[in-house]
Amino acid sequence: MKKETKIRMVNIDLTQRFPEIFKHWIDRGIVPMYIYNFSIRQGWYSLLFKYLEKFDEQGKRTGNFAEISDIKEKFGGLDISFYGGDAESFKIMLEAYKESYTVCEFCSSPNAKQTSMKTDGWIYTICDSCYNNKFHKRTL
Ligand SMILES: [Zn+2]
Repeated sequence: MKKETKIRMVNIDLTQRFPEIFKHWIDRGIVPMYIYNFSIRQGWYSLLFKYLEKFDEQGKRTGNFAEISDIKEKFGGLDISFYGGDAESFKIMLEAYKESYTVCEFCSSPNAKQTSMKTDGWIYTICDSCYNNKFHKRTL
């Protein structure tokens, strides 16, 4: 990922950019919300942003906005929870989860696979390069 893309993404207030799909957060006074406020690593920022744009586009087209209630990493996948929406929102959520299985959580490489570290049992979606650089030496 280009560095400037990453910087642009972290500076965007999601409640301003996507007021309909972040209504749940605005109503609770949790503003501004940035992409790094969610429990995911930076390698997934562009992936998440792409799917937020899909939710927003779907809501504007159909009038059935998915209202995001939580975004987190769960069992090595990008887990997006929402209220409302429609069948298409559900499909978008599943697409995001499925695509996240191939995107490195650390560097955005599209060649990641899931692995469980021997020391903590946590499931990571990580490319070979990040695995070797960040974890392999430390944990084995
Ligand atoms: Zn990586």
